[in-house]
Order: sequence, then structure tokens, then C-alpha cells
Amino acid sequence: MVMTQRIAVLGATGSIGDSTLAILAAQPQHYDVYALSGFRRLDKLFDLCQQFLPRRVNVPTAAVDEFAQRLSAAGLDIAVVGGAEGLVDIATDSQTDTVVAAIVGAAGLPSTLAAARAGKRILLANKEALVMAGQVMINAVKTHGATLLPLDSEHNAIFQCLPLAIQQDHTQIHQPDHGVRKLWLTASGGPFLQQSFEQMRQASVAEAVKHPNWSMGQKISVDSATMMNKGLELIEACHLFDLPEDKINVVIHPQSIIHSMVEYSDGSFLAQLGSPDMKTPIAHALSYPNRIDSGSQPLDLYALSGLEFIEPDLQKFACLRLARQAMQAGTQATIVLNAANEIAVAAFLSGQIRLTDIADVNEQALTEIQVPLLNEHADIDDILAIDKVARRHTDALIKKLASS
Ligand code: NDP
Ligand code: MG
Repeated sequence: MVMTQRIAVLGATGSIGDSTLAILAAQPQHYDVYALSGFRRLDKLFDLCQQFLPRRVNVPTAAVDEFAQRLSAAGLDIAVVGGAEGLVDIATDSQTDTVVAAIVGAAGLPSTLAAARAGKRILLANKEALVMAGQVMINAVKTHGATLLPLDSEHNAIFQCLPLAIQQDHTQIHQPDHGVRKLWLTASGGPFLQQSFEQMRQASVAEAVKHPNWSMGQKISVDSATMMNKGLELIEACHLFDLPEDKINVVIHPQSIIHSMVEYSDGSFLAQLGSPDMKTPIAHALSYPNRIDSGSQPLDLYALSGLEFIEPDLQKFACLRLARQAMQAGTQATIVLNAANEIAVAAFLSGQIRLTDIADVNEQALTEIQVPLLNEHADIDDILAIDKVARRHTDALIKKLASS
């Protein structure tokens, strides 16, 4: 008998949401779209409700009544829940088998953590949840028997290149018999790879969000332009694969064909290749340990002219250096870096600061903000308290910068 997975797509109106729903629409025999969430793009969410007929939907608290009326006027019997509590409610619902964690930023943390505590299968796109609360998340996954499968293409690639024993228990990565020497995260280098720092300094929002290979949401596109995205991914990889940051290298690979690699002690490098299309890692995680058709374009190897590998310039892309620094300093520092970066990216998108100011703001936040050291017993309240302090301080930094 084929079991149908009931899926909650949190962040359904975004870019990962789009790719996920395209696969789910093509595979109705395997997947039941049980719940969806949106935040600002509620017209799009309404269309998705008509198309997928979920049983539950989440919108901001202030929009619940109007959205519920709209659904009922269209003859749709869908329960509407509001706000962050509503997201947690859906993530922990006994009817939910799988949670696709595709909300952007710190807003995705509470529902992702709740899903882990409810022992769900979690398909994780929301890297910020691990950057803020890696240890807490991983502990919750272990304690409550949840399954955490990475959607981020690099982490999904590494997962696929690891032996089954490590896929099932990441702490096995330390067993010498498995011979894992290093992980290699590939990075595209973003739209400014071939441009000078000065050109990067002058970049408009449109130029910064125009990624050469991937089509993504605005925040992650800016993070790719500053390479903060690779910094966040480095921290994400440390938590997901239980390794210190010095076991994880970053290499720029502008073609985005190799999505990451595992280096073994015998000199082997195992890589996962594919077209730059998030449908591939999403389909992998949805169907793991089986395989389904993702609908992505197969790679045309005959059309590839060459694959390049370049060492990143840490002066131009200071955010990558800051991420290593924060990871070495501890969780309190990665929370500060994540919060400062979210505020700085929003300030860039709204025209208050320049693209290259983002790294300066992040560095200043890391240096100036005094927060308590967190140990492995820290909980979500400790994490959110640091996040709040860091946001407030970064807001002040930006005001100062914008008025200077
Ligand atoms: P988008 O901006 O395209 O989508 C974000 C989603 O989160 C939308 O559904 C949005 O709703 C929702 N959302 C935003 N703010 C809130 C909030 N405060 N509360 C509840 N929901 C909210 O982002 P992406 O899809 O690009 O990225 C999602 C996550 O996946 C990020 O963490 C990103 O780093 C990660 N990721 C993305 C990749 C990609 O290719 N796009 C690749 C790898 C990882 P609405 O649109 O209705 O406002
Ligand atoms: Mg990625």
C-alpha cells in the first residue's frame, strides 16, 4: 500500500514554497497538501487554497477574519489559524506528517522547533533556525525522534554524498572508519564575483537581487551577493553534520553545477551535481529514501564548457569571515550575527544603507553587542532574548549610519 504523506508547507507563498508545491501538484498520489501558510502575499495564498484545498491555513493574526470570510464566500471549508501560535499549531498538529520549513528568517524558528519537539519529519529550508538555535534544534530532533532533512542545496548535496550510517546518525561522522576528512560547500560567488568592491558598493537593489544562477526570495538573494548566505550555510553545516567550522571549506564554483562535496581520507571527493533548481533537493527530501521525478531540467553534460573553482576573497566578502568568527565564539554570537544581518539586509532593501555597509554593520554588531554566553542547555527564551537585544542595537547602528 502506498502511504500518502500529509504535508504542511510553512512559507507556501515564497520561492521554496513555489518549488515545493510544483512537485506536490505533480505527485498527488504520494502527497496530501494538509496545510499552507502565507504572510503578506495573501492573494497568492488564496489562489493556492483554491488549487490545493488544504484543511488548514495560516495568515497573520490581523488577517484571520477577512481571509476566513473570503474562503467561505468561495465555498472553501478551510480552517484559518493566525500568527506565530497558528504556525506552531499546524507544525504540531497530529495530522501533519511532514513540515516544510520555508519561512524566511528568525520568524521560522518557533514553528520549526515545535515540529522537532513533536517528532515530525522536517524538510528544512529555514537555515536561520539552525544559525540561531542549532544545538537546541538538534537536541530536540534527537530527543523527540524527529527527522531533519536539509533542503538547502549544499547541505542536501553533502547529505547525499555521506554514507547511510551518517545520514541516519550525524554523530557517526566522527567514526574514523567512515573516513570523512572535510566538507566542501560550493558558492556561486553571487552577482559581484567579477566586479570590484567599489562597484559592489554602488550596487542598486535590483542589481544585488539578480542572482546569476538561482531564482530566490529577496533576503537570500542579498545574502548571496554579500556571501553572508555562505556564512549562514557554514554555521548550518556545522550543526547539521556535527563538525567544527575548520572542517568545512568554502569554494566558489560560479557555474553552480556541483552543489557541494565530501572529501574522504583516501583522497576521494564525492560530489552531487545537478541543474541549479531547488526542485531537486526538495524532491530528494520529500521522497527520501526513495526517489521521485522532481520536474527539474536534467543536466546537459555535453553543453557544459567548464567547471571553475576559486578561493573566496575574504576582504571583499567579509561576511563569510564574520560567520567563521561567530561560529568560533559560540551560539550567542551566531544569534547576534543572524539578527544584525536580517536588520541590515532589510535596511539595504529599503534604501537606507549600501550593500557593502551590511558587512560593516554585522561586524560592528558582533564587536559591540554584549550578550551572555550560551551553553548547550540554553532554551528558546534565552535565544530570543539575545535576538531582541541584537535587533535593537543594530537598528540604532543603522540610524546612525543612515544619518551620517
Ligand atoms: P521568500 O521570501 O521567497 O519566501 C518567504 C516565505 O516566508 C513566504 O511564504 C513569506 O510569506 C513567509 N514569511 C515571511 N515573513 C514571515 C513572517 N514574519 N511570518 C510568517 N511567514 C513569513 O524566501 P525563500 O523561499 O527564498 O526562502 C525561504 C527560506 O529558505 C529562507 O530561510 C532561505 O534562506 C531558505 N532557502 C531558500 C532557497 C531558495 O532557493 N529560495 C535556497 C535555500 C534555502 P509572504 O510571501 O506571503 O509574505
Ligand atoms: Mg544554499
